[in-house]
Amino acid sequence: MRDFSRDHRWLSINTATIRKSRGADLPLSEIIEACVARGIRAISPWRDQVQAAGLANISKLVRAHGLELSGYCRGGMFPAADAAGLKAARDDNRRAVDEACELNARCLVLVVGGLPGALQGQAAHKDIALARGQVRDGIAELLDYARERKMPLAIEPLHPMYAADRACVNTMEQALDLCDVLDPHRSGDLGVAVDVYHVWWDPKLEAQIERAGRERILAFHVCDWLTPTTDLLNDRGMMGDGVIDIPRIRGWVEAQGFAGYSEVEIFSTGNWWLRDAGETLDTCIARHRKAV
Ligand code: ZN
Repeated sequence: MRDFSRDHRWLSINTATIRKSRGADLPLSEIIEACVARGIRAISPWRDQVQAAGLANISKLVRAHGLELSGYCRGGMFPAADAAGLKAARDDNRRAVDEACELNARCLVLVVGGLPGALQGQAAHKDIALARGQVRDGIAELLDYARERKMPLAIEPLHPMYAADRACVNTMEQALDLCDVLDPHRSGDLGVAVDVYHVWWDPKLEAQIERAGRERILAFHVCDWLTPTTDLLNDRGMMGDGVIDIPRIRGWVEAQGFAGYSEVEIFSTGNWWLRDAGETLDTCIARHRKAV
């Protein structure tokens, strides 16, 4: 297992972590400058942030600073209530692949979606098996497109509390079952993003990380699970402040040969987003060294 205690060369910042500074939106260009100023070598930006700043501008900035992208957030949201919705999802996912290519991302992260309409507050139906089928078909179709462009797709299993509205793929086992069906030859074109926040509780986690192996572990996301958690989406903790044994999970992932970035991804309306972004980044660096 790599020693992170002396430097932060393998730290990546998911840009949602400092999307707000002192409660105000922070433009992506400023996020990038703040990371670069601290010797952070990689980021993982969100599409809405890139869109607001302009893809060409961000692409230029990333290249000028020699920044790597540990991932691009995000594609997915495949299920829909009708054919037009499915087509819209397909088209949007292809654009996400194109953007990821332009930014030279390591992978496009897929948050696959749940029951159509649930995220907006009104699910169109209750058939989660149907949604899962649409996810499988959507990834299969996108995989063909992504392969042509050499952009790996990383399925991110989300904690089951998001099954209705964000992702009906909720365990590593489920995600890897999809990989086995859609990419039986383990090409490396399809894999998983292991986010400790979503999977730390799973009694099968170690075994499923072994099953994933080197070819299928495309990203590793860290933050912590706070007790109590006061918000189901935006109360993620700083590494070391919660109950996840992050070094143990990183050990499992690295035992498979994963040697990429540890990407810090914290959504925190009540704490970190209220602080100065510089303070949040400095804390990420310190905790990366001792709690990851
Ligand atoms: Zn994540």
